[in-house]
Amino acid sequence: MILTQEHLELKRTVANFVKNEINPSLDEWEKSGLFPAKMLFKKMGDLGLLGISKPEEYGGMGLDYSYEMVAAEELGGIRCGGIPMAIGVQTNMATPALARFGSDFIKKTYLTPAIAGDLIACIGVSEPGAGSDVAGLTTSAKKEGNNYIINGSKMWITNATQADFICLLANTSEGAPHKNKSLIVVPTNLPGISFSEKLDKLGMRSSDTAQIFFDNVCVPENHLIGEEGAGFIMQMQQFQEERLYIAAMSLKNMELCIDETYHYTSQRQAFGKPLIANQVIQFRLSELQTEVELLRSLVYQACDKYVHGEDVTRLASMAKLKSGRLSREVSDSCLQYWGGMGFMWDNIVSRFYRDNRLGSIGGGADEIMLGIISKYMRQAHNSRA
Ligand SMILES: Cc1cc2nc3c(=O)[nH]c(=O)nc-3n(C[C@H](O)[C@H](O)[C@H](O)COP(=O)(O)OP(=O)(O)OC[C@H]3O[C@@H](n4cnc5c(N)ncnc54)[C@H](O)[C@@H]3O)c2cc1C
Repeated sequence: MILTQEHLELKRTVANFVKNEINPSLDEWEKSGLFPAKMLFKKMGDLGLLGISKPEEYGGMGLDYSYEMVAAEELGGIRCGGIPMAIGVQTNMATPALARFGSDFIKKTYLTPAIAGDLIACIGVSEPGAGSDVAGLTTSAKKEGNNYIINGSKMWITNATQADFICLLANTSEGAPHKNKSLIVVPTNLPGISFSEKLDKLGMRSSDTAQIFFDNVCVPENHLIGEEGAGFIMQMQQFQEERLYIAAMSLKNMELCIDETYHYTSQRQAFGKPLIANQVIQFRLSELQTEVELLRSLVYQACDKYVHGEDVTRLASMAKLKSGRLSREVSDSCLQYWGGMGFMWDNIVSRFYRDNRLGSIGGGADEIMLGIISKYMRQAHNSRA
């Protein structure tokens, strides 16, 4: 994949935004357990950063997915995991289906303001009883007249306490679990919607996560995204952008850990020399940096194919799997070389150690990625036989 002048300009814009508008306030937001999504997203919207690959007609930049990838990589320069995750929900997790399958009404009412940073989005798939097993979700949206009546609940929803609308996956019929689901845009101010307290998490402290409850929530039928019953398939497609985003974002984040550790071990003296003078530490950091470069190649390859319209389910799953595992390995190994300092709560590497644990769970656990990759291997094997 070749990065053009336009890619590099976008990269610079995002890097400057991270440096000037996010990183200076980060410690405060991590401490308070909430970042100001409305304020931050509005600033990003003004720069066009919430609609990079969205249609120009609805306020987006109309660029291809490679530009999203470049921006995601730069957002990995944020010195925590919570905010890039929250931004990714707005741009690559809760809105791709609206852009691809939504009606003109949905796009004008929800997508355009989300791109401008005037509305905050969240994605409601997981439930208390169904996370990995998306097909097993039980929240229902029953058609009554010209409305859907929604009952059920969604669990661990990022941006939930600040969101203006939910891109909700719910059962609209009793049929087969892959054909009975629909995606519906649900404004969060409707009667019958309530939220739990913000959930107390191991990491991703500045990002708000909550449970959402639906008690006979009435949504007009024009809030349905695409065709009724096609929600599972649309969500599986939406997951591709989510997984590419997560993998791209993790690259810079890991490099930040490695760089900070290189710097610290160059300063810290033990046994009359800097820690980095020990070959074992140099080699471990070199090994990790090499792994990050390998993952970058995989992410770029997947992205290039995605831009050219190929099905990248297999490659995106591989990238997501590797990114989750490598992020944990990088933060764990780096933390080791900080010694006691690495065990301190406010240390950048200890923050990544906590935040990156989610990488192997959220957005499809490692085992789910392995299951998808296995399915493609089985198909390839069977077609050879
Ligand atoms: C901070 C945070 C933010 C989140 N944000 C959102 C959000 O915005 N929207 C949303 O919809 N969801 C969100 N989630 C939910 C997340 O996507 C789920 O937690 C994830 O999909 C795993 O589902 P689960 O927790 O129900 O785990 P389970 O499905 O109960 O699985 C538990 C573990 O079992 C193993 N496992 C599961 N299935 C298999 C299998 N077939 N074979 C082998 N092992 C298996 C895996 O290791 C898995 O981690 C978020 C979660 C967290 C923690």
